[in-house]
Amino acid sequence: MNEGILVVVSGFSGAGKGTLMKRLMDKYDNYALSISATTRSPRQGELDGREYFFRTREEFEGLIQGEQLIEYAEYVGNYYGTPKAYVQEQLKAGKDVILEIEIQGALKVKEKFPDTLLLFVTPPSGQELKNRLETRGTEDPKAIENRLRRAGEEAKGIDGYDYVLVNDDLETCVNVMHHVIQSEHYRIQRNPVFIQNIIRELQSL
Ligand code: 5GP
Repeated sequence: MNEGILVVVSGFSGAGKGTLMKRLMDKYDNYALSISATTRSPRQGELDGREYFFRTREEFEGLIQGEQLIEYAEYVGNYYGTPKAYVQEQLKAGKDVILEIEIQGALKVKEKFPDTLLLFVTPPSGQELKNRLETRGTEDPKAIENRLRRAGEEAKGIDGYDYVLVNDDLETCVNVMHHVIQSEHYRIQRNPVFIQNIIRELQSL
């Protein structure tokens, strides 16, 4: 069986990544969503082992030292990292594994595993991002300003990604994401064994 593809999804805060991931998982069963470890506190409604593995700083540093993380980054004062074991297991089982992580971690994963597919999710425009952050109502004007400034910084890193996905209509964006990932399976470089075999077979006919 073919191994799955490692896929990183990043995007501006307010781009709707969470909803997008949830819909992708509900709609298709060939994906596995990696659950990260973090030192930040759970938000209301979040469960340990579902949204994140919530860990103390000491525990998290133990994971780093034990080389149990594929990557980790510090984001707004907290550690976030991707546990290695689950990702490896699921890829071997043929699942396409999705890491929903920020940009520094994304670029580290790409460096370590150049085959990784990097997707960047964005709202249709900067103004729309501002509107969404304002109507979400969870942030005060200062925090919104910070998030917009950070989005401006992150935008400079988009060049390192493979595809940009515009999240205007959720269903459309989920379908495009699914098709982009599935198309990757047919890339020549991802099918060396099949190609070698057919060349060898043709030579022996
Ligand atoms: P939040 O605290 O809002 O859940 O997440 C903050 C940021 O951390 C988001 O951009 C999210 O994508 C990112 N993030 C979540 N898990 C990981 C991880 O394992 N590694 C890295 N590098 N970033 C992560």
